[in-house]
Amino acid sequence: MWKDIDISLEKTETPKPKPAVEELGFGRHFTDHMFRMDWNREQGWQQARICSYQPFEMDPAATVLHYGQAIFEGLKAYRGDNGQIYLFRPLDNLERMNRGAVRMSMPRFPVDLILQGLKALVYLDRDWIPEANGASLYLRPTMIGVDPFLGLKPADNYIFYLIMSPVGSYYAGGFSPTKIFVCRDYVRAVKGGVGEVKTAGNYAASLLAYEMANKAGYTQVLWLDACERRYVEEVGTSNIFFMLDDTLVTPPLGGSILGGITRDSVIKLARSWDIKVEERPVTIDEVLAASQDGTLKESFATGTAAVISPVGELFCDDTGYPINRGEAGPLAERLFEELQAIQYGRSEDPFKWTMRVG
Ligand SMILES: *Cc1c(COP(=O)(O)O)cnc(C)c1O
Repeated sequence: MWKDIDISLEKTETPKPKPAVEELGFGRHFTDHMFRMDWNREQGWQQARICSYQPFEMDPAATVLHYGQAIFEGLKAYRGDNGQIYLFRPLDNLERMNRGAVRMSMPRFPVDLILQGLKALVYLDRDWIPEANGASLYLRPTMIGVDPFLGLKPADNYIFYLIMSPVGSYYAGGFSPTKIFVCRDYVRAVKGGVGEVKTAGNYAASLLAYEMANKAGYTQVLWLDACERRYVEEVGTSNIFFMLDDTLVTPPLGGSILGGITRDSVIKLARSWDIKVEERPVTIDEVLAASQDGTLKESFATGTAAVISPVGELFCDDTGYPINRGEAGPLAERLFEELQAIQYGRSEDPFKWTMRVG
C-alpha cells in the first residue's frame, strides 16, 4: 500500500517576502510550502502532497487537543559554502519518530516516502535556506491524532505534516556558556513513561521549572531522575556531557532520556579522537564534588538547535558551582567546530552522516 503513494505538488501563488538573516531568531518565520499526508484506519496513508503553508481546519474535539496524541522531530538543512544543500542524519530522525509513534499508539509512516517528500520540500523552498554562517533551515515533522471524538482511545485519523523555519545562528553573540539551575522540585520523565519520545506533553510539563529557573537568572534546568532525584538526566531539551578527568561521561539511555542524534554523534566523534567515553549513571553529587576538587574539566549540552552548548555554571541548593571558570571548554569547541564543518559539507564525513539534496 505504501509503495504506490505519489506526492502531488500545488505551488503557492503568493510567495512570502524572506526576512533578513539578522531578524531570523528561532522558529518564528515559515517557508512558502509544507508537506502533508493523511491516515485513516481503513485506507492507511494517503494524499501525500506539498502545498502552500496554511492553517488546518480541526474539530474542537480533536484527539490531539485533549489527550495530546502528538509527536514531532527537529532536524536541519544547511547551505554549504559550495552552494550544496545538506541534511544531517535525516533517517535517524525519521526512525526515532516512528519508534515514538509506536509508543504513542499512532501509525508508523513509510520512512522512504517521507524522506522523498522532505527532500522535495527542502529543494522547492531552497531559497529560504539562509547562507550566513551558523544559520540553517529547521525542519519540523509532526504527527497528530485528529478524531472528532472525546472518548479516550487511539485516534482513527492522523495528519502527518512537515513545516520549515529559517533560523539564525544560535551563537550570534559568541560561543558563550550557559548557567544551569539544578531542579529538585520537578522531574521531566520517568522510566516506563514517554521521556524517550518527542511527544508534546513532555514539553508542556517542563515549562514551569523552566520559568522558575529563568526568573532566577538561569538559562535552563538540569533534570534529575524521578525516583531518587540523584542521577543527572538532561539539560532542558538537550543531552548532557561532563569531562571528568580524562573521561567524557554522559548518562545512559534508559527510557527516561531522549536519545539525541547530536549525543550519538558526539560519542562517535570523541571516540574516533581516542577520547574515552562512558555512558554510565552519574549523580549530581559526583558532578558537584568534581567541580570542587577540580576534576570536572568541562561540561556541555547537545541538541540539534544549538549543536553544542557549553555549561559555565551549575546552581544547586543555593550554591553556584563554576565549571572551567565559566568559560567554554576546549572539547566543546572542538566538537562544535567539527560537527558544524561536517554539517556544512566543509569537512570529510567519515561516518556518512550528511545527505545531499538536489
Ligand atoms: C530533541 C531533544 C534532545 C536532542 O536530540 P537531538 O536529536 O540531538 O536534537 C534531547 N533531549 C530532549 C528532551 C529533546 O527533546
